[in-house]
Amino acid sequence: MTVVVTGSSGFIGSHLVGALEARGERVTGIDRRPGPSRRTSIIADLADPSPEALDALCCADAVWHLAARPSVRDHGSGTSHRRHRDNVVATERVAAAVPDRTLVVVTSSSSVYGGSLHGGRERPCREDDLLRPHGAYATSKLMSERVCERRAARGGRVAIARPFTVAGEHQRPDMAIATWIRRLREGQPIALFGSPSRTRDISDVTDVVRGLIAMAERDVSGAFNLGSGKSHSLGSIVRRVAGALGCEARIEIVPAGPEEVPATLADTTRCETALGVSFATDLGALVRRQVAAAKPPVLEETG
Ligand code: NAD
Repeated sequence: MTVVVTGSSGFIGSHLVGALEARGERVTGIDRRPGPSRRTSIIADLADPSPEALDALCCADAVWHLAARPSVRDHGSGTSHRRHRDNVVATERVAAAVPDRTLVVVTSSSSVYGGSLHGGRERPCREDDLLRPHGAYATSKLMSERVCERRAARGGRVAIARPFTVAGEHQRPDMAIATWIRRLREGQPIALFGSPSRTRDISDVTDVVRGLIAMAERDVSGAFNLGSGKSHSLGSIVRRVAGALGCEARIEIVPAGPEEVPATLADTTRCETALGVSFATDLGALVRRQVAAAKPPVLEETG
């Protein structure tokens, strides 16, 4: 099979390309920036795709669309325009370029749920829940899901992945665990949004990749949570990171924006039954792997 992975230079995309290649697939990676490990074969902006990128999308046997501008916290100037372009317009271009007969697995986000507190009580988010996105990133992901619904309505094959917080080797540098590893290595305090008792469903990137591959293998449609079904308090995650680094963590609580929901938790039933994938995420081992992969900079000797 010849398959396409967009966002192939990114965190999850580069793991997905590696896993597909290990299975013997011919993978064309598309990204607008080169990746660290030659996972990308076509450099293109998918909001304005080159003929080469369109050709690859048109000829693939399956497409995983991961390219996006992630991060709920990006409030810089021009972000809303760039986010719309990368998360919505690029998805429209991909959905239009891939023939209806070819399955496109589009990566949305658990942020479309707006957290797992329902009327003040925690309950795992199910795929058929009412979607209540908080903030502009989550809204842009919901709009990308609407693009998928339009493709499905005209008979096109499409499935939506909703990953919860993903961790592992080469996690995006703006994400919490990657940031905390850096701060603790520099002897700096860690900023925690809101409270250490806020919780997150964290999953191992290798499990998320298994889920993404199973979505194409099982030829599914509709939305699928890719999460572990286990929640961890931010305080306990910080303790794991500090433990893996062998240091103490100093924590500073900073105000949480409205996009910082108090809790996230996946209902894993659909993933387990329809995809046959159970997440075996072991948070301690996952954090130790990520710490080991995020090597500290080598200091040059002077004088
Ligand atoms: P990432 O930023 O590491 O990777 C995204 C890649 O997409 C980048 O390499 C970027 O260059 C590329 N890209 C962005 N816009 C593009 C465009 N217009 N044309 C071509 N390439 C473009 O992000 P990630 O953490 O690997 O996330 C991958 C996907 O999973 C995203 O859709 C993200 O929203 C979603 N997601 C991630 C998480 C997580 O915890 N990492 C959770 C939920 C959903």
